[in-house]
Amino acid sequence: MVLVRHFFYFIICQCVCTTSAYAFDIIAHRGAPGYLPEHTLASTTLAFTQLPDYIEQDVVISKDGVAVVLHDIHLETVTNVEEVYPERARSDGRWYVLDFTYDELKRLQVHERTDDVGNRVFSQRYQGKHGDFHIAPLSTHIELIQQLNHTFYAQVGFYVEIKSPAWHRAQGVDISATVLDVLHQHNLTAENAKLYVQCFDFMELKRLRESFHFKGKLIQLIGENHWGESTTDFDYLLTKPGLDELARYVDGIGPWLPQVIDKENNRPAALQKWVAYAKQVKLLIHPYTFRMDALPGDITAEELLTLLTEPNGVDGLFTDQVPPVKQYLSH
Ligand code: CA
Repeated sequence: MVLVRHFFYFIICQCVCTTSAYAFDIIAHRGAPGYLPEHTLASTTLAFTQLPDYIEQDVVISKDGVAVVLHDIHLETVTNVEEVYPERARSDGRWYVLDFTYDELKRLQVHERTDDVGNRVFSQRYQGKHGDFHIAPLSTHIELIQQLNHTFYAQVGFYVEIKSPAWHRAQGVDISATVLDVLHQHNLTAENAKLYVQCFDFMELKRLRESFHFKGKLIQLIGENHWGESTTDFDYLLTKPGLDELARYVDGIGPWLPQVIDKENNRPAALQKWVAYAKQVKLLIHPYTFRMDALPGDITAEELLTLLTEPNGVDGLFTDQVPPVKQYLSH
């Protein structure tokens, strides 16, 4: 145990020594999925040793009402659910988190993300064949990070995403109420908590402000309308009236990287014009997702980070690989 603790101190010292004074929030996207399967406690623990400003928790709800940390409402792309519960897919051929109790979910092994036909999405990532990775509740993830913060005098924050609130509601579940309960139990609903709550659904973010009187920081995620993430009109939200309206409810926005970058000759060349207006109306901008192994177009990692962190650039970044981003910012 002493050796383990010394190892962590060593790792953390390495990270602290490379921390930059630049006010830029690094968000460990789904834990440390560049190195270990996403959203597992192992991935979260590894992310903590890299000392990002925040670690992200995507949240969906189990059959018995437990808020669990997973990116999708479905299970088959990151677990062996099709082997453990072969008969429990819905008629669309998908296994839904909401159809399983937490005790049932615990029996699943989490693996590297695969696509709909079973191929690994990121072929060079974790290669282990005998991992023992599991789904865990939001409360367990929060407790883990709070304990590690306490032990190592760190202040790693939380970045919680409410997934598919309209879908959950159509299934009879109020995901926001459940998530806020968990946050409250861990003293994270205060205005000054080191926490962001994010969602693609603008109606749900308004509801958090107006119905739940949530005082903490909110981030509107921005996708493309054709993704069908929610009924939110993302094209409108990136117009001046849309950004004005957002600024009345939320603290910032989380666009995906291609929405932030203007390309010339298919090469990322500048930030989009809306970025300046978003900053003018005091919206933080936290784009997703910086991946060393999936850069957006013909650009190096360093060129992309230089573009994003220019003087009028973005305020933070979701990344699958925290260390190279920290290393760049320390220059
Ligand atoms: Ca997310």
